[in-house]
This record gives sequence, C-alpha cells and structure tokens, in this order.
Amino acid sequence: MPCRFRVEAGGASTWSTRVIVAPGALALAASDIAREFRHAFKVVVSDGRVARFHGRRFLGLLGDCGASATMLTFPPGEGSKTREGKARLEDRLFSLGAGRDTVVIALGGGVTGDLAGFLAATWHRGVPVVSIPTSLLAMVDAALGGKTGVDLPGGKNLVGAFHQPVSLWADIRVLQTLPDRPYRAGLAEAVKTAVALDASLFRRLEAEVQPLLARAEPSLLRIVARCLALKGGVVAGDERETGRRAVLNFGHTAAHAIEAATNYRVPHGEAVAIGVVAEARLAERLTGLPREEADRIEALLAAFGLPVRPPRGLDRKRLAAAARRDKKTRGGVVRIVLPERIGLMPRRPDPSVPIDVTRDLLPYLVRN
Ligand code: NAD
Repeated sequence: MPCRFRVEAGGASTWSTRVIVAPGALALAASDIAREFRHAFKVVVSDGRVARFHGRRFLGLLGDCGASATMLTFPPGEGSKTREGKARLEDRLFSLGAGRDTVVIALGGGVTGDLAGFLAATWHRGVPVVSIPTSLLAMVDAALGGKTGVDLPGGKNLVGAFHQPVSLWADIRVLQTLPDRPYRAGLAEAVKTAVALDASLFRRLEAEVQPLLARAEPSLLRIVARCLALKGGVVAGDERETGRRAVLNFGHTAAHAIEAATNYRVPHGEAVAIGVVAEARLAERLTGLPREEADRIEALLAAFGLPVRPPRGLDRKRLAAAARRDKKTRGGVVRIVLPERIGLMPRRPDPSVPIDVTRDLLPYLVRN
C-alpha cells in the first residue's frame, strides 16, 4: 500500500513537495511525470552505477507512458559533487538545447540529489526537480528538504541553494541492489532522526534490526515513510535552518570533523554513526541524556553493523579546525544540538548550546 503525504511550507514560503513511498514507486513516478510534465524537456540525472541498475528501466517505464527523456550520467561518488561536475552537466544541457521548459529528474543517492538539485536550482534561474532517491540515506534524509549543492576542495556543501523538489518518490524495492555499506550508512541517518525526533521510531528500529538488515519491505516502508514525515514536519516550519531544523544536525558536528580529519575516507553515514555516539555521550553531561539511553543508542548502531568509535590516531588539530568551521558556529563559538532524552530535543526557539571544542568534543573523538 503506497504511503502518500504532502510537505507544505509554513509561513511566507509557498513551496510544497508530494511524497510517495511504495514498493514499485518508480512506475508511479514515471506515469506521474509523463502526465504532469507532458510538454517539458525531461532530463534524468544519475550516476553511472544507478543508471545501469535502474536508469534504463526508468526510461523504459516513461516510454510505456508515452514519454521520453534524456539521461545524463556522471561517475559515482562524492568526487563528482563539484562545481566542475555541475558545469559538465550544464554544458551537456546547453548542447541538447534544454530551455526554460526543462524538468530535472534526480534518480540516485544523496550525491545525485544534491548535484542534480543544484543544477535545477540554477538552470535558467530555476526549473522544477523531481526527486527519486535510490539509496537508503537519500530516502530517509537527503532527498527531502531542498538543500542542494556541491563541495569545494576545502569543505563539503559550501556552494548551493535551497530548491525544493515538486515530488519525491521512494521506491524501496530499488534498495535491493544497494551495496551493504551504503545501505547500513542509511540506517545511521534513520537512527539520528529517531534520536532527534521520535522515541517510538527508535523503539521500532530496535525491534526491527533483523528485518531491516534483511531489507524486508514492510519494515523499510514504515521506517522510510516515518523518517520522511518527521523530516517534512521540521523543514516545513524552518526551511532555511534559522531555528528548529538544526535538530537534524544532531551527530553532524562530530561527523563532519571525522570526515575532514580522515580526508573523507570514512563515508558520511559511518561518520554520522560515530558522531551520534560521541554527541550522545556529550549530551549525558550537557543536557542530561540518561546514560542508559546513550548506551541504547550505541547498541542500536552497533547492531546495524556500524562503527561506533572513531578510528585511532586522528589529528586533534584537524578535528578541532573542522568542528570550528561547523555551520552552527556563531561569533567564533561552536554551538551544538543535543537531546535531553531519546526523541526529545530542547524546545527552545534556538535548541543549540555553546561548547568548547577542545574541552567538550575532542575527548570523544580522539582515541590513543
Ligand atoms: P551516493 O549518492 O554516492 O550513493 C552511494 C553509492 O550507492 C554510490 O556508489 C551510488 O552509485 C550507489 N547507489 C545508490 N543507489 C543505488 C542502488 N539503488 N543500487 C545500487 N547502487 C546504488 O551517496 P549517499 O550515501 O546516497 O549520499 C551521500 C551524500 O548525500 C553526501 O554528499 C551528503 O553530503 C549528501 N546529503 C545531503 C543531504 C541534504 O539534505 N541535501 C542530507 C544528507 C546527506
């Protein structure tokens, strides 16, 4: 049974995103796009691996609905999420004669979503983007919320735009081809969402470790739909992250420091697992998270086969420098969002607390 809902901006903004989670959603997406964008120039953007597994089939599904699309591919991996990678796609759009009537269909993981979303945000000053996430990380987190962008050599996601997808189609069946490591990385983001926003989702994750590791459809359907609904609720009220959206960054100050200090050898989702544990331990001290709840968070991530300790020998200076570059730093003071209980973040308009990186964070990131 498909799960459908709409995420609608509150306040003065006017965007909305239709969300559909279902086994077989790829076919639903194809018929919807064929109808909704009948006269548009349709461009599917995918990395080469996703294109091989699902892109050609998706073009076939569009064809079954009487629609055609052009596929643009790029090499898989974070290394393609750059200004140069985006420029290459733009040059190809230009040579295809793509105009203002283009719709971009982002079919892939978080890298594709960020890159294709940014492409859509700036092509002819903004054309619609449809999001079809194919990795678990993109389904539970990255594909919703409108953050798009590329990396610079010195840091991640430094150039980008907010550009909301018109619709998001999560076909949990495509997860069967996702390799084990990125699949587990997606589970780390689901745990983060649960700790930040929903104790009952956390208990469900604890209860469904085995079905989730086996990629059982009923479990995946529930978890993906719940994570998207929770994230949707937060971004609808704070698209630009001026307040509450920061709770979704739980674990990420530590995670970004680990990624930078290991030259991105530790993939994002694994760094999030380590970062969530580090920040949960800090929360014991700073926001009163009960110790047994921090233990449960660590145990759940470990049960999903995720790393829960930083690699040995990380350089303190590089960790500290990366943590201080965190986007929540204000006036030179690093701020961090920490839970009070599993599923309960501080309710203040600004949920973050100031920390001293050397004293508060580094003890959890450096192992001798
Ligand atoms: P990714 O897009 O590189 O995908 C990981 C790997 O899985 C790639 O090799 C890809 O080819 C492969 N893959 C994806 N779906 C597949 C499938 N169904 N079958 C087979 N292979 C498949 O990376 P990711 O882990 O999905 O996302 C990480 C990126 O997301 C990072 O760049 C991160 O910054 C970004 N991100 C963005 C947001 C946001 O709000 N915009 C949030 C979290 C993360």
